[in-house]
Amino acid sequence: MKTIGVLGIQGAIEKHIEVVRTLGDRAVRVLEKEQLKQIDALIIPGGESTSILSQLKWYDLFEPLRQALQEGLPVFGTCAGLILLAGELDALDVTVRRNAYGSQIDSFKTNLKVEGIDHEIPAFFIRAPRIEQVGEGAEVLSRFQNNPVLVRQRQGSCMAAAFHPELTDDVSVHKLFLDNL
Ligand code: GLN
Repeated sequence: MKTIGVLGIQGAIEKHIEVVRTLGDRAVRVLEKEQLKQIDALIIPGGESTSILSQLKWYDLFEPLRQALQEGLPVFGTCAGLILLAGELDALDVTVRRNAYGSQIDSFKTNLKVEGIDHEIPAFFIRAPRIEQVGEGAEVLSRFQNNPVLVRQRQGSCMAAAFHPELTDDVSVHKLFLDNL
């Protein structure tokens, strides 16, 4: 059984914890840097990336997290989590544009084909970032209207989604991440 940390700052923290437990692993809410050494992987939920970033610094977690990721701590980010992994946390070779699918009222649900998953998965896009460029270090696992929406770093175990898989009953995207650890 693996121990999966869920960054406990903002977003659907409990939902991610529930999905991890459904898949048979242990889940803990992470808010202290010491915990980064006690987990096999971390999930960064969505929310507001600027606010998550300032709270990461407030909790004295930003540098320790960046370093842990550089040292190979596997990570899965959703939405704002993707924005931070592609930006300040510097763990994913893609560039993103925040809120590029529109504002809150433009949020939508769709079904996606995902490489490595044998059925279409439901996905919520909520003030989602658009992945505008994918560098050589990353690969695309899913697209929506030709835009990459699920990406993975080729080296190591960093995966990120522009959407929210945790808000549906389908646990396949988390399973894809956990199976690759
Ligand atoms: N719009 C948010 C941001 O820019 C991300 C939204 C989300 O995580 N659902 O950080």
